[in-house]
Amino acid sequence: MIDLSTSKVLQNSKLIVIKVGSVLVRGDALDQVNQTWMDALAQDVCALKDAGKKVVIVSSGGVALGRKALGIAADMPPADIPLAKKQASSAVGQYHLFNGYHHAFAKVGMHAAQVLLTMSETENRRMNLNAREALYTLLDNEIVPIINENDVVSTGEIRFGDNDRLSVRVAQMVLADAVVLLSTTDGLYTDNPDTNPEAVFIPVIENLGDEHVSMAGDAVPGLSTGGMKSKIEAAFSATKTGIHLVISNGKENHALQKLVSVYDKKSSLFVAHENSANARKMWIGAHMSPKGFVAIDDGAASALQKGKSLLPIGVREVSGDFRRGDVIEIRSLNGKKLAMGLSAYNANDARQIAGEQSSDIHRILGYIGRDELVHRNDMVVGD
Ligand code: GLU
Repeated sequence: MIDLSTSKVLQNSKLIVIKVGSVLVRGDALDQVNQTWMDALAQDVCALKDAGKKVVIVSSGGVALGRKALGIAADMPPADIPLAKKQASSAVGQYHLFNGYHHAFAKVGMHAAQVLLTMSETENRRMNLNAREALYTLLDNEIVPIINENDVVSTGEIRFGDNDRLSVRVAQMVLADAVVLLSTTDGLYTDNPDTNPEAVFIPVIENLGDEHVSMAGDAVPGLSTGGMKSKIEAAFSATKTGIHLVISNGKENHALQKLVSVYDKKSSLFVAHENSANARKMWIGAHMSPKGFVAIDDGAASALQKGKSLLPIGVREVSGDFRRGDVIEIRSLNGKKLAMGLSAYNANDARQIAGEQSSDIHRILGYIGRDELVHRNDMVVGD
């Protein structure tokens, strides 16, 4: 049974993606971060870490913090800035942005890591797998990834454009439990509260539908790129892949800590669909064209049915020419399709370690790879 409040959902989450909007990180001067706000966020993240949780931050602010160097007026809406200028501004501002996070986390004895992603990378299986492993390694070392879109190389229709979508994509990549979008918006109202005094706030949305899209409206305030529409789209994507999404106003210091611990901190919670397969499996499902297959013995087949990973020792045959991160079919010895999954090894290496103990992988291949040929998180069992 799921308890329907933001604080309960966040308390039950092990891995949380926090998206920070440009307005929150920028200080009074055009090229300065709001260090006090960032320091408070780092303290909140540190407290979550001490409570056994992992946090990934997706932060906007690159374009906003580079405006001064590029001579872009403070009040020019992001949509009106020419793309090349926006990219250049982001290249300047990203330094200020990460520098602010670096200092904030150093004060609480933690490291922050700068990660710049593009949309095409997150859609490419191998790159997605690489990015995920790098992010997991950072998190295992209690380092906080600070992610932004790599604005300089991502252009036109292949851009995420707004970090609402990027943060959900990241959450799907790392199998996060929840995404929190911190901006200057309280959450979802039945209508625009600035123009309609009758507008009613909606704290919990269990079944997100088209009616919520029309409530969102098009208004995009100040420095922000996304606005409510892009947040609702992000909520659709998150909830259908089993990830809760929260929208809340992050302007006050320690907004994150309040969302976790104060039951009635104002926020809209979009509840994840209960029966959705996990995010990664949905993603594999959408990219189902196997580049090869492996035939596995009966022991490995029954391990798969119990939800275990596929280890090299159970593999009898490797066929096809696939690369690490490609989808492969997993078959029984008599050719029956058992599962699909992402291979952690290319076909040649898979052939060499087939039938061998995972502890021998290093000796056989000359490098330390994963123990599993296909990890259970990367596998869809059955037809
Ligand atoms: N990558 C953009 C920046 O750093 C953020 C886009 C957004 O506002 O979501 O400014």
